[in-house]
Amino acid sequence: MSSLDAFALDTLAQLDAASLRRRLAATERGDGTLARRAGRDLVSFSCNDYLGLSHDPRVVAAATEALARYGAGAGASRLVTGNHPPLIALEERLAAHKGTETALVFGSGYLANLGIVSGLVGAGDLILVDALGHSCFFAGAKLSGAETLRFRHNDLAHLATLLGKHRGKARRAMILTERVFSMDGDRAPLDGILALAEAHDAWVLVDDAHGLGVVEPGARAPLEMGTLSKTLGSYGGYLCASRPVIDLLTCRARSFVYTTGLPPASAAAALAALDIVEAEPERAARPLALARRFTARLGLPEAQSPIVPVVVGEAETALALSSALEARGFLVVAIRPPTVATGTARLRVAFSAAHSEAQVDAIAAALADLRPAATA
Ligand code: PMP
Repeated sequence: MSSLDAFALDTLAQLDAASLRRRLAATERGDGTLARRAGRDLVSFSCNDYLGLSHDPRVVAAATEALARYGAGAGASRLVTGNHPPLIALEERLAAHKGTETALVFGSGYLANLGIVSGLVGAGDLILVDALGHSCFFAGAKLSGAETLRFRHNDLAHLATLLGKHRGKARRAMILTERVFSMDGDRAPLDGILALAEAHDAWVLVDDAHGLGVVEPGARAPLEMGTLSKTLGSYGGYLCASRPVIDLLTCRARSFVYTTGLPPASAAAALAALDIVEAEPERAARPLALARRFTARLGLPEAQSPIVPVVVGEAETALALSSALEARGFLVVAIRPPTVATGTARLRVAFSAAHSEAQVDAIAAALADLRPAATA
């Protein structure tokens, strides 16, 4: 056996032993909250399609039309010949939605954060990132070469201490946080973060991947990034910011410059979805209302977003609970380290406007039955 395969097998065996191995499961998503796995229809609570727009006929029609007109792929990077009309139209609409001068669409949210962070700060600069920030913050920070410090999750006092201690030594400073945290569903104290940033001359980047269209935004940051892949039901990423910042990143963000433009059909789908988000506020309010119905039923702290973590501790326990729910017809994938901290493996229950009240009550009842501790 080659040393390469031996290395892979040995590492996989270690992951298996710790219940941390990941395996792909073929999943066929249907309309609404249906997911088919191994020939079984399940009600999915593990999808980020918060408003059920990925299958909305208006979104699908917009994508189909753009597909026929512009083709399946962008054909080149944006700066070469990949800057197709749906991408430009989407940027205008995203900027208007967020109230910024302009916007830039990236290939994905992950690519957006890589390019934004490494395009704006570098060696000699300081990055302060919430300890529960998404993996792409940390990847972008590493790529940038800036000194990177984590502040305790949502802890303004710790952030203030770190700024006081380290800001003076750095040329520029950037604070990275999320409007809604992806694995905990709680929200950053943005007013406080923006005030500290102002006092210490630091820039703030807010990741709105899980907030757009489903929570009241509250304060806006000068750098608001997000994804087209969750509420907007499509694929791609974006940054909304001032004209100078966007112009600079158009030249400097490596994950923008050196990669093929987003397929025009993906942009057209996101644009149609954004229209629906703005036109149908009652739809946008529904996932949070359902999440609150769920937390009330289980006696959990009131949901702050459509994401509710049911923390069980060990990876093995989370896998067992997920399997037991699957046997009852619910798909709730276990979230394990390193996605979350060791000892905090969980089920991440995500609600969609497409869920019915009856489905929410049914999963709450199943969880109460399977894991009485969740109701404690
Ligand atoms: N930021 C956060 C907070 C996310 O949860 C995700 C997706 N899991 C991303 C960024 C990356 O977005 P994308 O899927 O578009 O790459």
